[in-house]
Amino acid sequence: MKTADVIVCDPKPLRLWQRFYLIEVLKGLGVTLRHFLGNLFGRKYTVTVEWPEVKREYSDRLRGRHVLLTREDGSPRCVACYMCETACPADCIHIEAEEDPNSTVEWEKRPKVFNIDLLRCVFCGLCVDACPKEAIIMTRHHEMAFAGRQEAVATIDTLLQKGPIDAIDLGYRPYYGRESRPIPLPIPVRTEPLPKAPRPELAANP
Ligand code: SF4
Ligand code: SF4
Repeated sequence: MKTADVIVCDPKPLRLWQRFYLIEVLKGLGVTLRHFLGNLFGRKYTVTVEWPEVKREYSDRLRGRHVLLTREDGSPRCVACYMCETACPADCIHIEAEEDPNSTVEWEKRPKVFNIDLLRCVFCGLCVDACPKEAIIMTRHHEMAFAGRQEAVATIDTLLQKGPIDAIDLGYRPYYGRESRPIPLPIPVRTEPLPKAPRPELAANP
């Protein structure tokens, strides 16, 4: 049986100046001072985004605030099937259905109540994945502030799409991002060029 060789590592004894750590402390302070002066005068090392004046370019699949899409006549595409409510892991969607007076062979119901508690939502996007009607999508709006718990409950009035959606607002939605199989959204989308926010590091180092 082969035995492994034992390697004995004896650390080199520290020299006198090393035992005081003074040089290493001064070296560390030098690094701190270099970064401090670099940030103060040259913005050389700054990686902080000065939000809200400067915004990052977010992914097209960012999972932000939800939108309930509408049909051409303005009625909600949602058919109150409860699939999103069932799929939601945070149990934050509450739907109450009612009969749609304009029902067709394609749908019978519409949501009378559609609430999403945004304080409980974990923005996982499973409601978007579960929807068979592509009625719910997510935007890139993630800046939310609430003064009270009730304000954080998005109701059908606030969730319903109001007119064409700007392309910059679109976030996570069905099939989006698969370039080989692009499936357009069944809604009008404005496609003006995205406003480019100056990035601090580029502005500092043109
Ligand atoms: S994003 Fe996730 S947690 Fe939020 S409502 Fe949809 S399924 Fe629920
Ligand atoms: S899954 Fe879609 S159609 Fe069904 S209740 Fe949710 S939003 Fe409406």
